[in-house]
Amino acid sequence: MIPFLDLKAINTQYRDELVAAATRVIDSGWYIQGTEVKAFEQEFAEYCGSKHCVGVANGLDALTLTLRAWKEMGRLKEGDEVIVPANTYIASILAITENRLKPVLVEPDEATFNLCPEKTAAAITPNTRAIVAVHLYGQIAPMPELMELADQYGLLVLEDAAQAHGASIDGRKAGNWGHAAGFSFYPGKNLGALGDAGAVTTDDEELAKTIRALGNYGSHKKYENLYQGVNSRLDEIQAAMLRVKLRHLDEEIKSRREVADYYLAHINNPNIHLPAVGSPESHVWHLFVVRSKQRDALQKYLAEQGVHTLIHYPVPPHQQKAYDSLRVESYYLTERIHETVLSLPMGPLMSRKQCCVVAIAINSFK
Ligand SMILES: *Cc1c(COP(=O)(O)O)cnc(C)c1O
Repeated sequence: MIPFLDLKAINTQYRDELVAAATRVIDSGWYIQGTEVKAFEQEFAEYCGSKHCVGVANGLDALTLTLRAWKEMGRLKEGDEVIVPANTYIASILAITENRLKPVLVEPDEATFNLCPEKTAAAITPNTRAIVAVHLYGQIAPMPELMELADQYGLLVLEDAAQAHGASIDGRKAGNWGHAAGFSFYPGKNLGALGDAGAVTTDDEELAKTIRALGNYGSHKKYENLYQGVNSRLDEIQAAMLRVKLRHLDEEIKSRREVADYYLAHINNPNIHLPAVGSPESHVWHLFVVRSKQRDALQKYLAEQGVHTLIHYPVPPHQQKAYDSLRVESYYLTERIHETVLSLPMGPLMSRKQCCVVAIAINSFK
């Protein structure tokens, strides 16, 4: 069976470096908010080209705490509208509703699965205060146009960069376009820890300080509490793992692009829709998502051919039980996307032979 993603093999490549890093942390006797987190924050900020990086416990917290910080700073208030793509992973929307902000779901561009400037502009009302720009499947959203729109209407932009570490437009990376960006380092993400981890990048020093305090019980200084905060910190051990993984991220992205290029060049079944890509740098191929009207039959057929696939995502947020308030709406494109998408095996260690097996299997599907 060709696995969807062989995480064990990916991490095993770096076993010696990871063990050395873990040993360093164990032997240091210091496990929370120490030198590893500090170093990772500097290295990841530098990687993204951002001034600040604040480590948090996971990607959802990165998004939630950024919106919360803007509320504490008086830049957002309860009930403000936040534009978000309807086809995103539910975490982008949970971050909005957790802060009692109002998610305004917008249909994506059907070719890229990301927000498009026209539909985003059409969704702006006098109550709109922010946009959550999700870089879905690893492809960066059209940030120059979205930022122009945000400037025009005075909106805050939060990038959900959980799937797009290293993607860029005109040399400017995900995490360095919006007023802030939330990253996830969930193990299966392109930059994955060995457990939960996340971070916010921003050029705004006050925002970075506020998020840091919010994630540390609302405290910027020991035993002084400015906010009713939470506990959401990046652990030393995960920071140490991430420092190792970050050093290899660019090679891994290169390998993913080679897999994607192979698929794009060799999959030629007229019933299978290939993903649209802009410039090569804009996509880091967290997922390689094809579309088919016979998606379920295709998935079954590929499994019979030894090709493991997944669906990202089977049910859109507005059709989830969790969201009664959103279930009254229907989003035609989003629903069609969820019915037809299929994610092919994708990862930095896929061999040419495995790519070939996948392409042949898909091309033989009738
Ligand atoms: C993974 C993911 C998140 C949440 O990250 P966690 O670290 O799992 O909390 C948020 N948004 C998107 C688009 C994601 O893919």
